[in-house]
Amino acid sequence: MPNVLIIGAGGVGLACAHKAAQHAVELGDITVASRTKTSADDVVEHVRRRGSLKAGRKLASARVDAMDTSEVARLIRQSRAGIVINVASPFCNLSIQDACLETGAHYIDTAVHEVEGRVNEPPPWYANYEWPRRGLFEQAGVTAILGCGFDPGAVNAFCAWAAKHRFDRIDEIDIMDVNAGHHGRFFATNFDPETNLREILEDVVYWEDGQWKRIPHHSMHREYDFPEVGRHVIYAMGHDEVHSLAVHFKPKRVQFWMGFSEQYLRVFEVLEKLGLLSEQPVEVDGCHVKPLRLLKKLLPDPKSLAPDYSGEVCIGCLIKGIRDGEPGSIFIYSTCDHAACYREIGAQAISYTTAVPAVTAALLIARGDWNVRRMVNVEELDPDPFLELMPRLGIGWQVREEGA
Ligand code: NDP
Repeated sequence: MPNVLIIGAGGVGLACAHKAAQHAVELGDITVASRTKTSADDVVEHVRRRGSLKAGRKLASARVDAMDTSEVARLIRQSRAGIVINVASPFCNLSIQDACLETGAHYIDTAVHEVEGRVNEPPPWYANYEWPRRGLFEQAGVTAILGCGFDPGAVNAFCAWAAKHRFDRIDEIDIMDVNAGHHGRFFATNFDPETNLREILEDVVYWEDGQWKRIPHHSMHREYDFPEVGRHVIYAMGHDEVHSLAVHFKPKRVQFWMGFSEQYLRVFEVLEKLGLLSEQPVEVDGCHVKPLRLLKKLLPDPKSLAPDYSGEVCIGCLIKGIRDGEPGSIFIYSTCDHAACYREIGAQAISYTTAVPAVTAALLIARGDWNVRRMVNVEELDPDPFLELMPRLGIGWQVREEGA
């Protein structure tokens, strides 16, 4: 029994705690830890109240500063965790990875490592901080699965499935993410506002014709008719999975696209123009304040959107390739309904779709299928056990033929 430590008690941490608790017979005892003890306490209380925890397993909360490797290592030992799910800020990846290397606990995260104050890092992003550590994980015999939320995460497994079962050669990958839901707030982000707004603000980096290309944010758009949620305008955006899929599949093109409403774009432009998305401190009455941090405090907590959220999310990969000499194209995707997630575990669909793949990966490490004892991105693993198990944790997937 591995026992699981979940670091981060935001919307994603809450959904991970519910899903891990539902599968505690296989995963063992669960500890939820956060920088603020009360955040972790609230998650534990929420899971208990909703009755997600399987009998005979323990659920505990803890305080940890995930930037401090020795604190994380101490907590891993105390909680006897064999698997750590990192759903805190992406600033904490390396310190948590170091603690896993020190203790031998396996590691899962959902976002590439970031450093505060640094944006527009050189592509491929994983090569800046994480891939150079592959030797360390291999030597230690510790599994690290990078980027195993939905996007990155499940979408990488969709590409691996297409490479294994549908195409002899993959030529183009468009990862497309549209949230057709309504939360009723003036402006809100669906996950950590700091991470989310930083990634939207960055230049868009994509892979085409053997090279990385860079364009300003929101400068390229297209329309796509999504299954179930219909036609939406989507904008090219920089995203983690582009940086590993381009390296692992070497197709002609890999791009990420996300849907934004007119209202969202208007407010985003105002925030950017006023400097409220900046990480550069400004002095206010003798205090140094980072505008983006202030904005994060003022915006709704993504978790709090869940009760009022309606509508669906559709995320998938439009993949073009060659099979038996013939060109073909598929859209492989999942949809998820905000209200259904709320009814099940009290979370909104973005938290839910991030947590389900992470906990699916934890189960596959526990079962041995994905316990590869090295550092990998999701597309390097066999997609079959993952795509078989993920629907049983709550997210199905489908393939739509798109023709040649
Ligand atoms: P939130 O900001 O709501 O929650 C983050 C949690 O991490 C909080 O509980 C916070 O602690 C905790 N935390 C932050 N820094 C530290 C630290 N130094 N030590 C300990 N705990 C810390 O974020 P979300 O739950 O919405 O998202 C979590 C992450 O999931 C995001 O950063 C994002 O990168 C990733 N994500 C991935 C997706 C995917 O599909 N791959 C999609 C959506 C999100 P506290 O509040 O106690 O201070």
